[in-house]
Amino acid sequence: MPLTLKAVPCLRDNYAYLLHDPESGRTAVVDVPDVAPIHEALDANGWQLSDILITHHHDDHIGGVMRLREDTGATIWGARADAHRLPPLDHALVEGDLVTLGTQTGAVIDVPGHTIGHIAFHFPDSQMAFTADSLMVLGCGRLFEGTPEQMWSSLCKLMALPDETLICSGHDYTKGNAAFALSVDPENPDLRARVVQMEADRTAQRPMAVVPLSLEKATNPFLRAHLAYFKQAQGRPTASDSESFAWLRHAKDTF
Ligand code: ZN
Ligand code: FE
Repeated sequence: MPLTLKAVPCLRDNYAYLLHDPESGRTAVVDVPDVAPIHEALDANGWQLSDILITHHHDDHIGGVMRLREDTGATIWGARADAHRLPPLDHALVEGDLVTLGTQTGAVIDVPGHTIGHIAFHFPDSQMAFTADSLMVLGCGRLFEGTPEQMWSSLCKLMALPDETLICSGHDYTKGNAAFALSVDPENPDLRARVVQMEADRTAQRPMAVVPLSLEKATNPFLRAHLAYFKQAQGRPTASDSESFAWLRHAKDTF
């Protein structure tokens, strides 16, 4: 039976995610920007937290981990590469390690770029991937620590997941991301249709941080940087894939 997923809005535009395995009753949270909204969501569903999964070291993803750990005794999973700057880990993870949540397992994917030591979690049986500030809705994280080459190769790993995978990212930056995407890929009919849909979702206050990978591949400019028409449109037909990505990331930083 697949995991039950609840997106929990936190702080200004962050998302934490609750994952509940109905068979074992175990419940994990991916990232802890804040404590109160997570307790509320757990209580509303009658779930008890068993596990805390950390994607990367930024405060807006780990700020509530220690409090939540004290409140619940949950087990903490995070990247070994970042163990020195994360709360104390019960499980220090490297790429390919498996996170177990009751009957479900998630694979750890190393996705450096936004930070070094940023990891994603892929639960293949539930068709979900938690990408935080690597692959984001219609965008990708800023490069604070990694190189464009590292981020491009991280995005390529995520693009190789099955198309049906639900991408669950760390923030809702859709408004700015949509404007930028349209500026670099204005003729893309899927993108134009999606932006119209997103306006409707925003008006109806539907959460927008969870999207099928297929839709991201069709509309997210950072997953299209390698396509010939895209390079052509930017006047860079001979750029390598990672050069095209680097140009795009720089253009977004100054947009
Ligand atoms: Zn971050
Ligand atoms: Fe963040």
